[in-house]
Amino acid sequence: MSRPLTARIDLAALAHNLGVVKAAAPHSRVLAVIKANGYGHGLLRVAHGLRAADGFAVLSVDEAAQLRGAGYTHPIVLLEGFFHPDELSEIARLRLRPVIHRQDQAEILARAHLEHRLDVLLKIDTGMHRLGLPPARVAEALATLRAAPHIGGITLMTHFARADEPGVGVAAQMATFREAAGGLELPITLANSAALLRYPETHADWVRPGIMLYGISPFSGQTGADLGLLPAMALESRLIAVRRIRQGDAVGYGASFVAEHDLNLGVVACGYADGYPRHAGSGTPILVEGRITRTLGRVSMDMLCVDLTPVPNAHVGSPVTLWGAELPAEHVAERAGTIAYELLTAVAPRVRVEEI
Ligand SMILES: *Cc1c(COP(=O)(O)O)cnc(C)c1O
Repeated sequence: MSRPLTARIDLAALAHNLGVVKAAAPHSRVLAVIKANGYGHGLLRVAHGLRAADGFAVLSVDEAAQLRGAGYTHPIVLLEGFFHPDELSEIARLRLRPVIHRQDQAEILARAHLEHRLDVLLKIDTGMHRLGLPPARVAEALATLRAAPHIGGITLMTHFARADEPGVGVAAQMATFREAAGGLELPITLANSAALLRYPETHADWVRPGIMLYGISPFSGQTGADLGLLPAMALESRLIAVRRIRQGDAVGYGASFVAEHDLNLGVVACGYADGYPRHAGSGTPILVEGRITRTLGRVSMDMLCVDLTPVPNAHVGSPVTLWGAELPAEHVAERAGTIAYELLTAVAPRVRVEEI
């Protein structure tokens, strides 16, 4: 038998979650965000599961070319635009839609000789202070783009910094956006998953859900299941050793766990080189034979240890769930001081993938 660690990807869950998006934002088109290798689930696999979306958003021309190569004719948005003018001819040839977030990009684009008209998105910084034009520079960028004969449609865009936080919301950024976009009569895209779920006023022409499509909640303290979502990934492995340890025995590197009493310990084929978070300390929830138990000691590169006290019949080969439908990735992430976005996107290329 080969190493048992497997990421099981559920295409029906992706389609279900897309349905939740459409029900929540029935008047908007859906730009499915599938950057970072489809949030770690596999770019083409996820595109297939989400083929009923109205468009896809990725980061690189390379990702977009894979989608075009697989036959997808959807609009494809490049969320960070183009990185170098050399990319523009390929962007035009593949009919991609770059996000323009700096005035010099608008100027480069206006000067370029392109074989096709290009639709673009113009990103406005409304308060996150990451990418985007300051509101006062929007008119200048629009004038530059509109003067270029090969620029087709222009969609206005912004991104929220705190849509997931209770009580903070999107009001200030929305007000800034309205002021910057007032009277322009252009299509608009604003909402990530959190805004889509919590603030219907952000839905506009296109919504841009990412994490919720994979069945994960954008809100801390809630899981995808609480929102009617189904997790698209289960990370599963097996025990590769079972041993009895005595009270006072230490487990793993740094002896960070010392047994409070005699116990059965299981060794799981999954470590931080697989993407399991090393910052998840002793006590992180994990399932053995479907029973909830806890990790013990530090996560190693290729293995981690678990307490088998709640699973007395566990044996070499017993199934282990690192996260999945019965153990939300959100709970593991919380113990590791991170978010499920990071866990999913960190799943390593060496982990075998199975589609269900
Ligand atoms: C990643 C990303 C999204 C999706 O965000 P989620 O929180 O995963 O829904 C939307 N818009 C932009 C610009 C992004 O970079």
